[in-house]
Amino acid sequence: MILVTGGAGFIGANFVIDWLACSREPVLNIDKLTYAGNYGTLRPLRDDPRHVFICEDIGNRAGLDGLFAQHRPRAVVHFAAESHVDRSITGPRDFIDTNVVGTATLLDAALAYWHSLADSERSAFRFLHVSTDEVYGSLEPDAPAFSETTPYAPNSPYAASKAASDHLVRAYHHTYGLPTLTTNCSNNYGPYQFPEKLIPLMIQRALEGETLPVYGDGKNVRDWLYVGDHCSAIRAVLANGGPGRTYNIGGCNEHTNMDVVNRICTILDEVRPRPTGSYREQIAFVTDRKGHDRRYAIDATTVNRELGWSPAETFESGLLRTVRWYVDNEAWLKANLSGEYRLEYNASEPMSV
Ligand code: NAD
Repeated sequence: MILVTGGAGFIGANFVIDWLACSREPVLNIDKLTYAGNYGTLRPLRDDPRHVFICEDIGNRAGLDGLFAQHRPRAVVHFAAESHVDRSITGPRDFIDTNVVGTATLLDAALAYWHSLADSERSAFRFLHVSTDEVYGSLEPDAPAFSETTPYAPNSPYAASKAASDHLVRAYHHTYGLPTLTTNCSNNYGPYQFPEKLIPLMIQRALEGETLPVYGDGKNVRDWLYVGDHCSAIRAVLANGGPGRTYNIGGCNEHTNMDVVNRICTILDEVRPRPTGSYREQIAFVTDRKGHDRRYAIDATTVNRELGWSPAETFESGLLRTVRWYVDNEAWLKANLSGEYRLEYNASEPMSV
């Protein structure tokens, strides 16, 4: 089996669902269920014996040791993190605790377990760390996209905490030989994303008739990747990536925030027309985020050339799928916002063995 951390969050849940759809290999899913973890997302897996869910903190070394010893995973795919830049600005401490100290604790537990393995299992073991393009800092408008050798220059507490975790992963490979893999990916979008991030936030607020707040002049540029494509890239890196290597993953889809919001409005105007006019009328510019990075862009040539990965969705097709999903799953959106999903976990039978 594989051990996934953060598998009740946006990308982790998509990864676990996709993994179990295209592989017979079981998943041990450990997640602390912070505000960003949604147990309800995993409901379709409730009767699948290949999915074992444990509510656990990656900072709990004793708990991790017990899980490694009991389940003996052949790989770790590490998503668990505090992930929202705005929250890292108002409260960086949680980001340091989970993204830095938590990752260090997970690495220690994985290393101890790895040392206990027989030679053949040890050489096959992988620790895949899921990270972000934000570790590279901000690009000028015409600068080349981030490659795997771009120097780190994180600007937000979130980016700095992820950069620190990337360095720890690198060091555990270099120093101890732990067979690590690191992926640095651009902005993801798709189903099951907590509606504090740009795309689900705009869809949710549009549907509620609220303003669509756009930071600053709306010209900050991000590279966007459909979450299912990120999941397929992680599967490719896990299967064939070289130990100690890092891989940049992106969609070659650079868009300004304003462009993204306009596109969402256009799709909503089609799929859920407002009687009083376009959703664009709800757009409002708000004070910019502190230290807001201007542009991120990813050069994904390595993962394409070496591992044959490329995204299946264009930005147009992925965004259409995404907007339709949120429109069709307003109950999921509302449950997230009300915190109802937390009750679902407490009220359910614990999914543990
Ligand atoms: P998310 O915030 O939606 O989910 C994070 C999950 O981690 C939640 O389920 C949460 O409960 C869990 N978690 C938090 N602290 C924990 C702890 N101490 N122990 C165990 N579980 C804990 O995040 P996401 O958007 O799914 O991102 C997943 C990973 O991918 C993160 O490492 C993030 O840095 C990285 N990433 C995200 C993006 C993006 O666009 N969302 C892009 C590139 C990389």
